Formats: sequence, C-alpha cells, structure tokens
Amino acid sequence: MSTLVISDLHVDVLTEEGNKPILKGVNLTINPGEIHAIMGPNGSGKSTLAYAIAGHPKYVITSGSVTLDGVELTDLKVDERARAGLFLAMQYPVEVPGVSVANFLRTAKTAIDGQAPKVRTWVKDVESALNRMQLDSSFSARSVNEGFSGGEKKRHEITQLELLNPKAAILDETDSGLDIDALKVVSEGVNRYSAQGDRAVVLITHYTRILRYIEPTFVHVFVDGRIVDEGGKELAEKLEATGYEEYVKAAANA
Ligand code: ADP
Ligand code: MG
Ligand code: MG
Repeated sequence: MSTLVISDLHVDVLTEEGNKPILKGVNLTINPGEIHAIMGPNGSGKSTLAYAIAGHPKYVITSGSVTLDGVELTDLKVDERARAGLFLAMQYPVEVPGVSVANFLRTAKTAIDGQAPKVRTWVKDVESALNRMQLDSSFSARSVNEGFSGGEKKRHEITQLELLNPKAAILDETDSGLDIDALKVVSEGVNRYSAQGDRAVVLITHYTRILRYIEPTFVHVFVDGRIVDEGGKELAEKLEATGYEEYVKAAANA
C-alpha cells in the first residue's frame, strides 16, 4: 500500500537575491490507487512542489512534512527518497551525456532494489517497456535525453516509471509538448501503472487535455503556492471553460 501525505508544506526557492517563499502551506493526501491532478497557472509553484518532495537542493522545506507509507521523506537524501519508493518525472528532464538509456535504467533499478536485476529477464523487460511506449529497441543505446524530442523525453520518463514501478509517482507536465498519439501512449503507461491499484499518482498539469485519457480521482486547483479548490474530475471541465482567472483574483485579494 502506498499513501503519500503532504502536510502544511512551506518551501522557499534559493535565488541569487536570497530565499523566495513559494509554497505557503500545501496539504494533500494521496491514498493507494488514487490519481490526484494538480492544475494551476504558470508560476504558481507546481514544479516547486514536485522538486521539494523529490529533494532538489534549490528548494528548501522551511516547515511541514511529506511522508510515504509513514516514512518522513524530508529527512532523506534524494537517492534515499527514491529507494523509499518515490519517483519524479520532471517537467524538463535533464540530459546525461555519455550515459545510455540502457545503463541509466539498469543503474536506477539496481540502486532502488538494492541488487542488480537478472540480466536475461531485465533485457526483455526493457525491450517490452520501450515497445509499449512505441520506442524502438535501438533507443536504449542513446544518451539519456540528449537530442531527444519532447515526445521521446516523456516516453522515456514513463518507460522508467513502468520499469522502476515506484510506490508513488509525481508526474510534472508529462503531457507538455506531446502530439495526440504520444499523449495516448504516455497516458496508457500511466494508467497501467495506476491500475495496479496500490500506487499513488500526482499528475501536475497546466491543461485539461491529458485528463481525457487519465481519469483523476480528485482535481486540485493550485494558485500562489496553495491548493485553493478541489473536486472531482468535473472540476477539470469547469476549469477548461473558465480558466484560472477567478482563482488568481481571489488569491490576490486574500
Ligand atoms: P509552475 O511549475 O507552477 O509553473 P514553478 O514552481 O516552476 O511554477 O515556479 C514558481 C515560482 O518560483 C515562479 O515565480 C518561479 O519564477 C520561481 N522559481 C522556481 N524555481 C526557481 C529558481 N530555481 N530560481 C528562481 N526562481 C524560481
Ligand atoms: Mg511552469
Ligand atoms: Mg512547472
């Protein structure tokens, strides 16, 4: 079972001019099998939430807690958080020149499981995971994210998700830059992962488009470092019609 609990999370980003408060008290509980969509305007702090939970050094948690199955993640280093079962698909995946996709996946799997995967089954697992993402087998020889198209980066992130099979996944704008075919393939990957029934998914997005393929259990509206509204999937439809304007105005007047 995988329950992710975010409690009164306050986060500063470290900038050249000093600390800048971004998250101003985020509360969220994701129960096993649930998909929570976090939707909000640009600059509202969605990626900051993802980075802070994953342990990025530029994002400093000033108060609050994040637990995964009762384990306090904020006390752990980045790699320890991953071993505890947390996965982050970044909005802008980083290039790792000289490291092939195959090596990268194997190293990540070994680090998380504490032992190397069995060679024979692993090679097949990687090949079928790539094929499910409609990536050619030759893709595994390429350097991670180097020269990848936007779609290839996101397909590679979901390949990782399926192979590493973490307890909890935070997917930051996994839909950005995808054409409709890639969006379907990526969504199917997320749905397969979630369909195991005991995984926690946080789906950060700017647009409602991906929610036609991935049905969220709950939708949260995120403005100015806080959740300002929540509802079921019908809230996403409302947002599509109205946008974030009324929420942004209300937050500015608060
Ligand atoms: P979103 O993902 O919702 O678009 P972000 O979390 O990326 O929002 O950004 C929230 C705010 O924090 C923005 O004002 C952004 O400029 C600022 N911010 C985020 N990361 C940094 C950084 N590394 N340095 C300076 N400012 C940052
Ligand atoms: Mg943004
Ligand atoms: Mg972002």
